[in-house]
Amino acid sequence: MDKTFQEEFTQIIKFEPPLYKQRHQFVKDLVEKYKPKKVADLGCADCSLLWMLKFCSCIEVLAGLDICANVMKEKMHTLSPLPVDYLQPSERSLTVTLHHGSVAHKDPCMLGFDLVTCIELIEHLDESELKKFPEVVFGFMAPSIVVISTPNSEFNPLLSRVMSYRHPDHKFEWSQAQFRNWALEAARCYGYSVEFTGVGHPPTGMEKVGFCTQIGVFLRKYPQTGELVQSEKPTETVYKTVFKAVYPSLKDEKYLQNAVISEVIFTAQIIKHRLMSIREEYSDDPERESKFQPSMDCFSDYLGKLVVEKHMEPFISGNEVYIPLATIFSFPKVNRLCGTFEKLCKLIAGKVTLSSDGSAVMFSIEHEEN
Ligand code: SAH
Repeated sequence: MDKTFQEEFTQIIKFEPPLYKQRHQFVKDLVEKYKPKKVADLGCADCSLLWMLKFCSCIEVLAGLDICANVMKEKMHTLSPLPVDYLQPSERSLTVTLHHGSVAHKDPCMLGFDLVTCIELIEHLDESELKKFPEVVFGFMAPSIVVISTPNSEFNPLLSRVMSYRHPDHKFEWSQAQFRNWALEAARCYGYSVEFTGVGHPPTGMEKVGFCTQIGVFLRKYPQTGELVQSEKPTETVYKTVFKAVYPSLKDEKYLQNAVISEVIFTAQIIKHRLMSIREEYSDDPERESKFQPSMDCFSDYLGKLVVEKHMEPFISGNEVYIPLATIFSFPKVNRLCGTFEKLCKLIAGKVTLSSDGSAVMFSIEHEEN
């Protein structure tokens, strides 16, 4: 909801890209720098930041929290997996959860995060909520990194339509010094360091005014002492989970097996077609046909520098083509998916037609040629 207001009153100074996008980009850049696995966005509103973050490949757990369930529900469907996510499951796992509740309350579902973002949230908190906020975020959640952004009131005179606050729901807007004092005190109490920055540059010559959006990046000074700290924390749940999506991932054996089977069949088909076309070339010349010996040299494009051993060469016997599993395993994509040859054998067992000794994928030529 801040976005429309922001656009309306940035008449004198027009930010390009819009300020809300710059704030979200700031978070994305921070994610790319620190590579957190678990990220929580407090005051996530319409989930637009969460949506942007789901494409960051380092993130495995994303959570949103807002006191207004309706604003979260508006676009929460955009956080669901798409058909393509099922067709091509990602290598990382990703779970996205949305909770309805207040940052003034502690809930164990907010423990264990690496990065907590509070973008344009604190100015919406009333006095009693703001008082509890540092203890909940820095004391209880205690992530390695916290990002807090809030309007810089010193910038307001440069924004044409801002009479008092930038948004009717704002309970306050702070000057740079006010934000600084509050942030330094919170950091001191809970063992964080804080760096100040922002987005939305002031016009040339007015640098003293500071950024339109002021940002504090808090870094926890000491590592969490794991279980001890967690066990001291209350376990009572107060938030209500309103959305949960578990993305298909190759970390899940079911999706890995499907991906490996498809890749094995695809790879075996490539080898078979190559073999058949070479055999056809030879068959034009009866003298050469007798000398036909398929060689893995013709797959060097796929295999790179790999040394192909004799037992890995595909062969034709009667009406069947045999493509050794060892050959298929040497193709980079199969290799990467399975990790070990044993895993390959285990995943395709009973799912792909194999030779009687189980060492090669078997295709019937007759069937294919019809
Ligand atoms: N972070 C969003 C928008 C922030 S607007 C963005 O970057 O665009 C502030 C949001 O904080 C609103 O959605 C509001 O419902 C939510 N909010 C207000 N008080 C809250 C509280 N006590 N706990 C959690 N969320 C709160």
